[in-house]
Amino acid sequence: METEMKSVDNLVDNEETYEHAVDILKSGGLVAFPTETVYGLGAIATDEQAVKKIFEAKGRPADNPLIVHIGNQSEVGKYAAEVPEVAERLMKAFWPGPLTLVMEMKPGVIANTVTAGMHTLAIRMPDHPVALALLQKLQLPVAAPSANRSGKPSPTEAEHVYHDLFGKIPLILDGGATGIGVESTVLDVTVTPPVILRPGGISKEQLEELIGTVQLAAKPEDQATTPRAPGMKYTHYAPEAPLFVIEPDAAKLESALKSIHQQGKRVAIIGPDELHTTNADWYFSTGAMHNHEAMAANLYKAIRQCDATEADMILAIETDLSGIGAAVMNRLDKASNGKRFS
Ligand code: AMP
Ligand code: MG
Repeated sequence: METEMKSVDNLVDNEETYEHAVDILKSGGLVAFPTETVYGLGAIATDEQAVKKIFEAKGRPADNPLIVHIGNQSEVGKYAAEVPEVAERLMKAFWPGPLTLVMEMKPGVIANTVTAGMHTLAIRMPDHPVALALLQKLQLPVAAPSANRSGKPSPTEAEHVYHDLFGKIPLILDGGATGIGVESTVLDVTVTPPVILRPGGISKEQLEELIGTVQLAAKPEDQATTPRAPGMKYTHYAPEAPLFVIEPDAAKLESALKSIHQQGKRVAIIGPDELHTTNADWYFSTGAMHNHEAMAANLYKAIRQCDATEADMILAIETDLSGIGAAVMNRLDKASNGKRFS
């Protein structure tokens, strides 16, 4: 299959491109498109066969459900059996935006493949002009996970999608780099208090300011039963070389570099501007120290840049857990499989 990449910036009339995308989706095909978090790989969520193609193209395990994207808040009632009052308040405050709500699903509407056979539905309204234009023209719900090969970092640029899914999907809408750079927060509102199944673009602090206490889901290995966000059990975002998390301390970094080099290994570092060191074989900066937004925006690209080097290992400099820092560290925890350099 040939993969077409079409730019959809504000400078040109994109009507034809959108029509093309809508045609592909309506005939059961896949389209990759930018959202404010990462690029998504979409199929019409009511079309069982189309949704299957997402799992095939990504190599995604069938028991890892997908998020349904809608173009208008008012559509929620078509797919959710029950919209709790707390969900109403959250949608009003954070939609369109990087907050996915897990609610009881109306039976018989959304394809079973989307929810991996569960009775709950994860749904959000993305805050990106291209995603919204596409959804609003389509007037149908779109199931869309991140548009990467399963296990790889999510794509934050159209080029990343092309790299991973070239030859497997017909169309990529190129809307430039995504803004937030980590995925949406997944919040289960079927329980009281609501539970964060995956930290993301909307922080725990932001949620609690609006609705009071929210809980963090236990790590999958600590859960007695099947994880509630089934995706949590899979390793995500894994780079080619082993990745270790390290403290933001210049002296510790230099001594780590020394010992790694003594073993004859080459190392790539992902870290803030302030800790840049010429002793690293490669240094990919994620912006100013303590700027969590910049780190979120640049993290996946930096991991991909590490993959393009010949590094034997990667050191990623950690940040604190406030705001979107929690989502960044959650992804680094997965990318490192819990490994720390010490
Ligand atoms: P991705 O699309 O790769 O960003 O991952 C979507 C995330 O949402 C995964 O962690 C899924 O496990 C989670 N998710 C999707 N649908 C549901 C659902 N019905 N209940 C709980 N978690 C869900
Ligand atoms: Mg993903």
